[in-house]
Amino acid sequence: MNMTGHTKKLIILGSTGSIGRQTLEIVRAFPERFQILGLAAGRNTDLLASQISEFRPRFVYCSSADSKEKYISPDGGYRMIPLAELAATPEADMIVIAISGTEGLTPTMSAVRAGKRIVLANKESLVMAGETINREVKRNKAQILPVDSEHSAIWQCLEGKKQDIARIILTASGGPFRGYLPAQMAKVTVEQALRHPSWQMGKKVTIDSATLLNKGLEVIEAHWLFNVPFGDITVLIHPQSIVHSMVEFADGAIKAQLGYPDMRLPIQYALSYPERLPNPELPRLNWHQTRNLTFEPPDFEAFPCLGLAIEAGRKGGTYPAVLCSAGEAAVELFLSGRIRFTDIARFVEQALEQHQTTSNPTLEEITSAAAWARGAVTKSTSGEHQC
Ligand code: MG
Repeated sequence: MNMTGHTKKLIILGSTGSIGRQTLEIVRAFPERFQILGLAAGRNTDLLASQISEFRPRFVYCSSADSKEKYISPDGGYRMIPLAELAATPEADMIVIAISGTEGLTPTMSAVRAGKRIVLANKESLVMAGETINREVKRNKAQILPVDSEHSAIWQCLEGKKQDIARIILTASGGPFRGYLPAQMAKVTVEQALRHPSWQMGKKVTIDSATLLNKGLEVIEAHWLFNVPFGDITVLIHPQSIVHSMVEFADGAIKAQLGYPDMRLPIQYALSYPERLPNPELPRLNWHQTRNLTFEPPDFEAFPCLGLAIEAGRKGGTYPAVLCSAGEAAVELFLSGRIRFTDIARFVEQALEQHQTTSNPTLEEITSAAAWARGAVTKSTSGEHQC
């Protein structure tokens, strides 16, 4: 038992992914503070099996149903339950949503409707359905704590108070292709795109960081999390990834949050909030090696996904759902070698252009717009030559 006398019971959805594994590292570092009540994973059943034997959850969900026998031990000790039920488990103190992509929306909604404290690493759910989520958060007295490093930085600058914000300055590393010309960009390989200069992340978000689509999604995420108009959110390229984002206040003062780029810090902050815990495993910023902190505006021409995303966010309706889903489908095609890097932006733009938007969409309209966008991207590639 810790000082407050209460061990927080966590459920991690997406426990075998990059954020899920790093969340478990924090749990492992503070066993008296955090306890695993439930785990959910997809295809990586071997890792899920070892997580189950280490953390002994009471509830488990695995989407690869056919391989259940691989990890269900004879003595069990846990119960398999549906994902939506796991996201709404009454005994859970916190639900960590570390599922990547558009699949995160449904479990996020379940947790919101159950009035949970949600540690949210899934940006797509807010991008696609920010208005609905915010409304339901209020109605059900749920709480959303951001894990995305930029949004955690903004949250830390605000210390929980959403007031007097004049401007949010979202920093971006610029990815591996910062300074590239469009002609160079058309030839980049999957390996190059997956080599991010400063962050260790899952594949999807790494490619999104290389196209800057990720930063566009983060602008929309910040808009919904902090209730700031799009015109008051500025993206700034900061290749060192030391300043994680900034808030400019009404009087012109600017607060920034700095730190070594390691996702375990924002994860730990969300888990321990409002406390800060000393964790010797987290690397510290070394000022002897930090010579320059540089900032430059983004190149909207070389990285068209950034502008496309911000425009989709401003337009609202079902455009942001199309943005997420078309982006996801295009990144899958790029990763499988079927389209070029520069085609990602092209397919996202085409899907947004062809889309008939619905204003004030219901969740069903949002998910059907997302399904339409995936189909539109797949259809437009099937007629083209492979590269
Ligand atoms: Mg981020």
